[in-house]
Amino acid sequence: MGFIADALSRVKPSATIAVTNKARELRAAGRDVIGLGAGEPDFDTPENIKQAAIQAISEGKTKYTAVDGIPELKQAICEKFKRDNSLTYETSQITVGTGGKQVLYNALVATINPGDEVLIPTPYWVSYPDMVLLAGGEPVFVHADPKTFKITPEALDKAITPKTKWFIFNSPSNPSGAGYTRDELKALTDVLLKHPHVWIMTDDMYEHLVYDDYEFTTPAQVEPQLYERTLTCNGVSKAYSMTGWRIGYAGGPQNLIKAMAKIQSQSTSNPCSISQWAAVEALNGTQEFIAPNNETFKGRRDLVVSMLNQAAGLECPVPEGAFYVFPSCAALMGKTTPSGKVLETDTDFASELLEAEGVAVVPGSAFGLGPNFRVSYATSTEALTKACERIQRFCASLK
Ligand code: PLP
Repeated sequence: MGFIADALSRVKPSATIAVTNKARELRAAGRDVIGLGAGEPDFDTPENIKQAAIQAISEGKTKYTAVDGIPELKQAICEKFKRDNSLTYETSQITVGTGGKQVLYNALVATINPGDEVLIPTPYWVSYPDMVLLAGGEPVFVHADPKTFKITPEALDKAITPKTKWFIFNSPSNPSGAGYTRDELKALTDVLLKHPHVWIMTDDMYEHLVYDDYEFTTPAQVEPQLYERTLTCNGVSKAYSMTGWRIGYAGGPQNLIKAMAKIQSQSTSNPCSISQWAAVEALNGTQEFIAPNNETFKGRRDLVVSMLNQAAGLECPVPEGAFYVFPSCAALMGKTTPSGKVLETDTDFASELLEAEGVAVVPGSAFGLGPNFRVSYATSTEALTKACERIQRFCASLK
């Protein structure tokens, strides 16, 4: 295929970004569009964190740092893992990268040999399969129950082969918001205990965004025997409204952490020095804003779930965390829009909804499970109410 690397032909551009672009085009053309595609909190970064960054600039902390993080941030991360997850890591077991995304990617590039398999439960965060492909591996999907969005221990066990290198785990999940209980997670870690060659990459990005009485747990905490083969990934993007600052981190076995640093040293070097000092404050400073933010998110979740369940043909489970819901539109497949288009896939549903009512959602097939669609409720209650009314009207218009 010429000048561009063959490996890229296996990779698709992000579907979430495609929807955002389409919505932007319509808006530019004068249409009233409500975007429900955002993957980031609509809250501002807390003031104490901003001040820490301003202070870092004033004090000239604006030079290269250690490749995989300043010691102060690594120390703050060790304390966070101890405090929130009862996990003990030394600073030599911590890596910091430019967002959780880079940390996950580094880990895959550092470990994947051609043909290695990586288990990914569906529905999945859009980037996992493509990151595995870019690293030269083979994504293998473990299909979740379409109602709970969780995989069973039996399905996990069945998917493991001698070539399985990693199991990627994400709870609460993007796109479904589903969170595994401690018992559900223990049932999965029991399976993993039987397969000592499989490593666990847990993406705990939505740890703090949980509602009702849901209690977050992470694999190495639930099953300490897996500690030696678990990479516990997390970041400040979602809980601290710091998506633009680009700081993610992980704790894991020292040899893996060193290999990841080697990749970072020859690609991007250190994450932004100023953002690292802001992240120190995020982790060490007050955590007081998390609870009120979560109250707001929970109110919006309840509103959206209730309104979508009132839409003809939609079925929307109540998720435990994150800021997404992932309703099924299976009952609407085969129906016809007033303009005469037959809905055959969730992509049809999303594009016709955008055309007819100016509401942008992401089709579930982008996340490997459908016919569903993802709604982000990280937007104002007013916009959410209006968007859900339009979705109800669209569903009612189908014949
Ligand atoms: N993991 C999941 C499940 C996510 O939803 C996201 C962001 O959307 C990330 C990782 C990446 O986070 P970051 O912005 O820190 O790179």
